[in-house]
Amino acid sequence: MNNYIVILAAGKSKRFHNKIAKQFYIYKNKETIDHSIEKSLNSKLFKKIVVVSNNPNRLKKKKYPKLVKIIKGGKERSDSSLNALKYLKKFKPNNVLIHDAARPNFSINLLNNLIKNLKKNKAVVPYIHPKDSIKYKSQNQFINLDRNKILLTQTPQAFKFRDLYTLSLKNNKNITDEATLFINNNYKIFYIRGERKNNKITYFNDIKINKTTFGIGFDIHRLIKNKTLYLGGTKIPFHSGLQGHSDGDVILHAIIDAILGAIQKKDIGTYFPSNKNKYKNIRSPKMLKPVLEHLYKNNFSINNLDVNLICEKPKVSKYRNKIINSISNLMNLEKKKINLKGKTVEKLGLIGKEKAIACEVIISITKYDQEI
Ligand code: ZN
Repeated sequence: MNNYIVILAAGKSKRFHNKIAKQFYIYKNKETIDHSIEKSLNSKLFKKIVVVSNNPNRLKKKKYPKLVKIIKGGKERSDSSLNALKYLKKFKPNNVLIHDAARPNFSINLLNNLIKNLKKNKAVVPYIHPKDSIKYKSQNQFINLDRNKILLTQTPQAFKFRDLYTLSLKNNKNITDEATLFINNNYKIFYIRGERKNNKITYFNDIKINKTTFGIGFDIHRLIKNKTLYLGGTKIPFHSGLQGHSDGDVILHAIIDAILGAIQKKDIGTYFPSNKNKYKNIRSPKMLKPVLEHLYKNNFSINNLDVNLICEKPKVSKYRNKIINSISNLMNLEKKKINLKGKTVEKLGLIGKEKAIACEVIISITKYDQEI
């Protein structure tokens, strides 16, 4: 594996018309650029991920893993790309991918495909066919073009480093992508099918946020001796556990109800009826899992989760980190989006006498038009 990727994020976003450059605009819960960086990291395909930015200090503050290298961009896209290639030269890369940060929706599968096809080719470029009918204006005449012969090329584009480097040094002015260099120099490009969802954010309207909704959840279970106490999917040492058809995890149950509330899908009892033997003693993470799968499959994204755990004991402050870590892992949700508060009830009632624990949750969820 001697692959490197360059992520270009030095554009000025002239067509974006927003005071924040599009690479730093929050898109699907994170800055646009982070989608490309995270996917490159998760693919485990690259020895180095070079991010080219006009604001390197802003990115350096984010403390990415060491293989992410931030360098300063140039005046034009082609200058930025050349800066990155010059930086990479000392590592003697075989393969280099060049990607525009304005395309946050590519898949890791596409990265694998590009690199696989680079074995027998010098340049591999993804494309899709246009959906619209296309006319070409030539002087005063309009000509219909066959859209099956039109290729809309995307990034990432993959190259043998040496060829790309040589061509870029020669003359890379006024190009909008690296494939252009290869075409201008009569080098062969191998085209592979790109991805429709891998569209480019150019205009502010390209970011289509459908809507944000809120959901509320509440749950309470009685405490009984000789049962393990689970809160937020993790074991908590305590004199009793929570009684219930399942493991009685009030936090996860309240979270599930909050999610279902936000997406208008009734309640936990609809999906996990307590009169069904199938769900007897079920661990609550197993109940949460299909709900989350539905959520992520349908382009919902969680903005934040606020949890009130209502009990006299155990002391929430003692287990806060443990519980938040567990929720974060189970939900694949960043810890900073989860808040857990402890609330006692002045020793009043069942909860005050340590005979029950209750929990309430509020969640904010945004649905996006495009796939995440
Ligand atoms: Zn419950």
